[in-house]
Amino acid sequence: MSALNDMKTEIKSITPDVLNEAKNIIFDGGVVAIPTETVYGLGGNAFDDEATKRIFEVKGRPNDNPLIAHVHKDYDLLKIIDYDPPYAKKLRQAFLPGPLTLVYPSTGKVSPYVSCGLHTLAVRIPSHEGAQAFLKAVDIPVVAPSANISKHVSPTSAQHVYDDFHGKIPLILDGGVCEGGIESTVCDVTGDVPVILRPGLITREMIAAVVGDCLEYVPNFASGEKVKSPGVLYKHYSPRCQTTLFTDIVAAKQACQTSILENKRVAVLCESKWIEQFQDENVKILNLGATEEEMASKLYDLLREAEKICDVLVTIEPDKKDGVMVGVLNRLRKACTSVDVPHK
Ligand code: AMP
Ligand code: MG
Repeated sequence: MSALNDMKTEIKSITPDVLNEAKNIIFDGGVVAIPTETVYGLGGNAFDDEATKRIFEVKGRPNDNPLIAHVHKDYDLLKIIDYDPPYAKKLRQAFLPGPLTLVYPSTGKVSPYVSCGLHTLAVRIPSHEGAQAFLKAVDIPVVAPSANISKHVSPTSAQHVYDDFHGKIPLILDGGVCEGGIESTVCDVTGDVPVILRPGLITREMIAAVVGDCLEYVPNFASGEKVKSPGVLYKHYSPRCQTTLFTDIVAAKQACQTSILENKRVAVLCESKWIEQFQDENVKILNLGATEEEMASKLYDLLREAEKICDVLVTIEPDKKDGVMVGVLNRLRKACTSVDVPHK
């Protein structure tokens, strides 16, 4: 395999020949970027220690942040999970294939690097046609963390993946723009009641409507307890420009003016209803839209656009805070944080 950084990276539409090429790369221990309905993933053989380690290496991902195993819709989950609670079956029937990852007790059959030493395994069955075709072709669990350099904005197009990984991976399967736009909901099903570890497009309300109850995990950093989903510990999704999140529109306008006076290139990212407040030839507008689905689907593309066009990004918290917006706000707040929470 070529050394990191000098590989030819090709973006290819998904055809039977290209799927065969992708399969050969995967069984050779390599990495292929794949589309899903949420974001693009960086795929590797979940049974292969070296492939799994390579994914951490190529992303620069902290080695305590576990990976999700992706399988096709007919894959026998009992090959990789130890126990399948009845309520998890109900969740699969209601939402899968789709943007919901379930965390089960693991059989320990996949590489130990996948779950970073945890005895659980996160499994996802994506609905994207191209992802299903690829997973069917390989017929093994494929770990596929978001295909971005660690801490950078997640990718929702083949071009976003290319921007982060050209020279480092051989193949990007082009499945168009990801409609969902934010990563899957991660839900722990190892206890009596499902617990959301990472919010996403399948909301707490939707899960509770199917199985009666659903909790939301809130990490208690101060207590020193081991955090259940290490991914929550890190600064994430961040554009490479100075980014600040405001709840107050007057303060946001003031921040724009201050940066303009400092001769900085300024952009504002906000929901449609605030746009007219920022009519100024020195301010570029990035319109998140109006509905929660629209905001989820546009968020990462606009954050990536921001880093190209401005030095200072002023963002405004959307008003709606429930449903899908729990996930959108989670991403927006992390994108605007400058700190990496230390691991407890
Ligand atoms: P990404 O692959 O970048 O979408 O991130 C995967 C997310 O799933 C991270 O927040 C991980 O912490 C979480 N995750 C993966 N495996 C597990 C697991 N076994 N237990 C808890 N959280 C997990
Ligand atoms: Mg990620």
